[in-house]
This record gives sequence, structure tokens and C-alpha cells, in this order.
Amino acid sequence: MALIVQKFGGTSVGDAERIRAVAEHVARTRAAGDDVVVVVSAMGKFTDDLLRLADDVSPTRPPRELDMLLTAGERISMALVSMALGACGVESASFTGSQAGIITNTEHTRAKILEMRPDRIREALAAGLVPVVAGFQGVSTERDITTLGRGGTDVTAVALAAALKADVCEIYTDVTGVFSADPRVVTKARRLAKVSFDEMLEIAATGGRVLMLRSVELARRHSVPLHVRSSFTWEPGTWIVEEDPTMEEAVVSAVTDDTSEAKITVGGVPDRPGIAAKLFRRLADEGINVDMIVQNTSLNGMTDISFTVAKTDLAAATAACEEVKVEIGAAQVTSDDDIGRVSIVGAGMKSNPGVTALMFETLSENGINIEMISTSSIRISCVLRADRVEAAVRHLHTAFGLDAA
Ligand code: ASP
Ligand code: MG
Repeated sequence: MALIVQKFGGTSVGDAERIRAVAEHVARTRAAGDDVVVVVSAMGKFTDDLLRLADDVSPTRPPRELDMLLTAGERISMALVSMALGACGVESASFTGSQAGIITNTEHTRAKILEMRPDRIREALAAGLVPVVAGFQGVSTERDITTLGRGGTDVTAVALAAALKADVCEIYTDVTGVFSADPRVVTKARRLAKVSFDEMLEIAATGGRVLMLRSVELARRHSVPLHVRSSFTWEPGTWIVEEDPTMEEAVVSAVTDDTSEAKITVGGVPDRPGIAAKLFRRLADEGINVDMIVQNTSLNGMTDISFTVAKTDLAAATAACEEVKVEIGAAQVTSDDDIGRVSIVGAGMKSNPGVTALMFETLSENGINIEMISTSSIRISCVLRADRVEAAVRHLHTAFGLDAA
């Protein structure tokens, strides 16, 4: 008998029919002899609707009240799923994040989990119930209700799976798994049967939209096997697991794309120690996440620094750079939001030479110009014009032999 955490995303509980289908699946899992903890997201696009309502009544978004509002979405789902389970003859009880013992820091709208005390969930399991937990939320050390950031139900599910030492955390969604590329871009994309945590981290960080990045980090830290699968077909999906040393790794497992970032260039920067530190300290203080960073070789003691930020942070980041510009004696700040990034990810890259060359050749053969490059040991990313990204993904997918037959 296994303990399985089953997380259902917004589309999986989008309406009454979907909720009944979820309940039937949980009932089947139980009938097979396994214990289940259910974690749910808000129905469909309910969180977005609530955000719009908030905007309609207030020009500011007071974070404490916003969290109180948004957590209502998951609360609706958990009660409805629990009722639907009852209708299937499965005894269950719903719990808010707070009741489930998810203790967070006080950073409203993007709280971090500090501690898990899922006593009530354990008790419910021991009593033979299926606990249904509202995702995306917790209670802070100041006893206020908090949320874990958009997509945070994945984090709830993995954190519970880790705390309860579950055998697997199943993430149910509207796609059948993790693909070798976005199937909307590449019709010949393949579902991956197995991906390592490291690869999944890179895929999630560079545009793979299936799992929230933080949940993958958490799963890796606690070695919680993840199984991403469809709540529409219920077929087996993609396993995300510890790297298996006996397996021959694919050189490239996936090609990802991301057009959510913009590029900022600070030009004519004096090439002295402390300049980059000043610039990026300032951005960090503003709470801006910086992604790719490239600094040119200096010419006559001057250099350029380019980096990418989320498009949503572009205005704030540009303003901060303009201020630092004066302080560090830089010449100009320019920005460009018409860029996109394409990345190739694969654990086998570490031991196979020529991957970078093939990537660059493929782009150049198709007349695609590379504007920035960054690498990790298992990823290569290139920044391109936004309108070339989809073509780049398709060509790379073919060049690395990923196209389905
Ligand atoms: N309902 C929240 C959101 O839309 C959390 C989640 O779905 O994971 O971001
Ligand atoms: Mg969601």
C-alpha cells in the first residue's frame, strides 16, 4: 500500500463534471488499496477573475487582503471535491492550508514555507479519510493567511508529499506530461517518459510551463518522485526522478522557449571592480530577478553589461538602472522587449562534445541571429528576435533528433 499525493490543477477541477471525474479517480486509487491526499487549485481561471475584481475595487493591491481574497478560490475547490468524494462513497474532509499546518514567512503573495506540521492530515489518514487540502496557501508566523505565489499549488503538493513521506506526488493537469518541446510549437514533440530533477529544473526555468520551478526544487531537495499526467485521459505521463546512473542519458532531452523576458543593456560602463556589484545590488533591493547576464570584454577600459528580466519587471528595472547609471558613470541604458529565448536541455550534454556547435550551426543555417548566449552544465540558451523563436525551436528539435517518427 502506497501513500500518494494527487494534485489537481485549475483545468482538472474546472467545472462540476471535472470535479466528479476527479472524485471518481481518487475513488479508483483508493479501491486499488492506496492512501491518497488530494491537493487542489482554484477552479479554472478563478484566481485571475478574483485578481480582476480586486483591481476593480482598488487601485492598489493590499497584499494581506489580496491573499485573503485569492485563497478563497482553493477553498471552494476543496469543499466541492470533498463533497464529490462523499457522493462516490469515499469518506473525506477538506482542510485549508492553515489547517493542514503549512507555516510560512510573512511575505504576502509570495510566501515561503518555513515549516510543515500536517498533524491533522496524518490524523485524517489514520482515521481512513481522504484529506483534501487547499493548495497555494498557508498561515504566516504572524497568523495571517498567505499565498505561495502563482502556481503555488504545486509547492503545496510537493511539500505535503515530503512531510508525509509519500511514495509519489502526482501532478494532474490538462497535458499528458512533459514534452520534448511545446506541442503547440512542434507538432512532432514527444512525451518524455522520464526526466531527471536537474533537467526538469532547467526545463521549468527556461519556459516549460507544466510545473512551477519552486516545486521542482523542493521535490529534488526531498527526493520526492513526481509524476506529471493528464486528468483527462488518466494515462501514465512523465516521471521526474533522481538521475539514474545506469541509464544512458539523452544528449538533448528538450528544447524550450520563453518570450516572457526583456533585455536591458547598460552601455559604456567603466571596467572596474564594484561596478557590476552596485548595479545588481540595486536591482536585488528592488526585488527584481535577473536572469541571463552578459558582460563584454572591455575596450579602452569601458564595457557593456546586458541582462534579461521578466517583461513585467522591465519598467522598474529600467528606472533603477537609470539611477545607478549616474552613480557608476555609465553612458546609457537601453531596453528591448522584442526578444525571446530558446534553450536546449539534456543531462548527456556533460559528456558529449559538439552540442554547442550543432546548436549554433542549426541557427545559422536558418538565418537566425544569436544575440546573447548562456550555459549551464546541462543547458545552452540563446536570445534571439522574438519572431524567430518558434522557427528556432522547430529546427533545433529536428537537428537533435527529437522529432517523433
Ligand atoms: N490558483 C493559483 C493560481 O492560479 C494557484 C495554482 O493554481 O497553483 O496561481
Ligand atoms: Mg494553476
